[in-house]
Amino acid sequence: MTAPSLDTLLTWIRTESPTHDAAGVNLMMDLVVAQMQDAPVAVERVKGEQGLGDALILRAGPRTDEPAILVMSHLDTVHPVGTIEQDLPLRIEGDRLYGPGIYDMKGGAWFCLEAFKDVARRGAAARPMVFLVTPDEEIGSPMTGPIIEDFGRRAAYALVTEPARDGGQIVTARKGVGRFDVHVEGRPSHAGSRHKEGRNAIYEAARQILAIEAMTDYAKGITTTVGMVSGGTAMNTIPQHCRFPVDLRVETLADGEAVTAAILGLKPADPDFKVTITGGMNRPPYERSEGTARLFDHARSLAAEIGFDLVTAPQVGGGSDGNFTAALNVPTLDGLGIDGDGAHTLQEYGLISSIAPRQKLMTRLLETLR
Ligand SMILES: [Zn+2]
Repeated sequence: MTAPSLDTLLTWIRTESPTHDAAGVNLMMDLVVAQMQDAPVAVERVKGEQGLGDALILRAGPRTDEPAILVMSHLDTVHPVGTIEQDLPLRIEGDRLYGPGIYDMKGGAWFCLEAFKDVARRGAAARPMVFLVTPDEEIGSPMTGPIIEDFGRRAAYALVTEPARDGGQIVTARKGVGRFDVHVEGRPSHAGSRHKEGRNAIYEAARQILAIEAMTDYAKGITTTVGMVSGGTAMNTIPQHCRFPVDLRVETLADGEAVTAAILGLKPADPDFKVTITGGMNRPPYERSEGTARLFDHARSLAAEIGFDLVTAPQVGGGSDGNFTAALNVPTLDGLGIDGDGAHTLQEYGLISSIAPRQKLMTRLLETLR
């Protein structure tokens, strides 16, 4: 890897792009368009919706009707603008490159786009190639989910440039993610003079939370989390309202359906309360299929030729856009991005030494996946 190319990556990190800052995300998209300028790559820009930034669809390789190799990167981050000023300054310490979004996932997006461009230039792709660059992964891909599924249905393989796990492991299975909102309505009343007439929404919500948390089953890999609660208006008032979200993680589609039904079916313990629940599965589970296992074996042999051992991580808890393609039964490899640590934290870094071999691996995948 040469020094000028690392400069480009540093520019990417300086361009802060939290999901809800459409202008920042669009600056990132501009950088990708510039990166592809002199390459035989067709660039289609999809205008952002719902206040989000734009998406890019890059096409290259042989112009045939064969199912394509689909590569996916997101350029939004979880870090608010200004993080780079104080909390997570851009810096290099030994092999570690620190900065907002370097690990999740600008590092991997950048070098995989370089690999894509290089393969396009040399006309070396084994199949048509499509690279989706998205603005909204960190909030569950509300805008690009349907686009991903559309391309996924026509893809032979999906390669996702999310960060590598501990020591460069890649990902071949992820849990599915569900999101719910629960609203409990009771009856307000004065806590002193009319206690008996009140119906405390927080009390009822607490009962519901116990029931929801009890759906966690570690042996089956099912977890439910109530991570926030809001309710009440004053210390001396029996609260009328209480609201909380629920985060659900499951390993299988069947568990996702069963727990979703259980959550949506919760009833108040006392008919004086009203419990309203909305939501459902956001990303289906990414289960390791036979096709994915074969794709992994192929990637592993390519890595061995390059000189490193590719290992697959146990099924990870976080969802990604790979969940969409895996659910469509498209062999999917994830975690092909940069190695490092600290995703979504102020200690986020990427390992510079991991870029060259992993860029080579993406190059070889694009050249050899038939
Ligand atoms: Zn990510």
